Amino acid sequence: MRSTPIFFFSLLFLFNGFLATAQNSFFNAAEGQYWLSTDLHIHTVFSDGAVWPSIRVEEARREGLDLIAMTEHLEYQPHEEDIPHPDRNRSYILASDMIQEGEKLQVINGSEITREMPPGHINAVFIKDANALLHKDSLTGIQQANKQGAFVFWNHPNWDAHRKDGIARLEPFHKFLIQNKLLHGIEVVNETTFSEEALALALEHKLTILGTSDIHGLTDWAHNLSKGGHRPMTFVSVRDKSAEAVKEALFNRQTVVWFNDLIIGQEALIAKLIQENIDFDTPSYAEDLNLMKVKVTNKSSLSFQMEYTGEYSFHQRSSVFTLPAKASIELIIKTKTKEKSIELPFRILNAVIGPKRFLDNTFLVK
Ligand SMILES: [Zn+2]
Ligand SMILES: [Zn+2]
Repeated sequence: MRSTPIFFFSLLFLFNGFLATAQNSFFNAAEGQYWLSTDLHIHTVFSDGAVWPSIRVEEARREGLDLIAMTEHLEYQPHEEDIPHPDRNRSYILASDMIQEGEKLQVINGSEITREMPPGHINAVFIKDANALLHKDSLTGIQQANKQGAFVFWNHPNWDAHRKDGIARLEPFHKFLIQNKLLHGIEVVNETTFSEEALALALEHKLTILGTSDIHGLTDWAHNLSKGGHRPMTFVSVRDKSAEAVKEALFNRQTVVWFNDLIIGQEALIAKLIQENIDFDTPSYAEDLNLMKVKVTNKSSLSFQMEYTGEYSFHQRSSVFTLPAKASIELIIKTKTKEKSIELPFRILNAVIGPKRFLDNTFLVK
């Protein structure tokens, strides 16, 4: 009888340990590397958002984010009468003051330079002083942000308030910004939208691929967190977890976007993420059968839609199946003869590498 509570507490401890690990990373990375989760577009009552900055920090903690940027509209201040907001860094100061030493979550300073199209809305993150970006013309604000070493990106280029057809396209002003290295990234995902045209622009003009929540209300309401949903996030591939490393990786376009059940990014980075998160164990055969059994593990928080494109067939499933998040399945492959190793080519239907393009990846099973 006396061992029961100890046993119970050990179980509890194990369970808590599991939860902590599960929340630590959404995507597994190679040894010495990390896929850090970021949201670089967030509003509070200091522009047109509905909540105080502290709620943004609490949300990000609950959702397991590594880094968020506070990006209030510089010019659009609908709460001005109640919150005069003379210092445009205030939202960042309040949020970052909550962060404890050694905490996983980091908060960085940012601003949304808000204009009609063109150029529309431009975010500057990793800024030093938001007040210095307040200018009559948006170009001066963007130049000031660049002077501060900011990472600058184009927000919701597909926004239907600016583009009646929802199609993202460059104006001469955007081309000018890109050519002069004043604009470094583009939102391919904003809030609840995904723009294939913005993805095409990112790939063509070597802009960093970004996905953000642009949250104004509560993330729980907007993204159904209680039912397993998540806000759009940009994952940044880094070798250390510092904000400086995140900034450098953003400039180097080392990002993958996670939006609903999709990952979106450059082919090489999506392939890297897939190889780091899908594992095929050593296969085996029952002595008297020519059916290869192999355990396949998905270490990530995203279920993958797998389409096998090779010659074999499976004993228990069709060539299209789901590989569930943080789980293993068994594949039984009809190899006809006993093989030491085989190659299995797959198309991963929710791994987007371009407009209407999905990752093809061959797994070596041995
Ligand atoms: Zn905006
Ligand atoms: Zn915004």
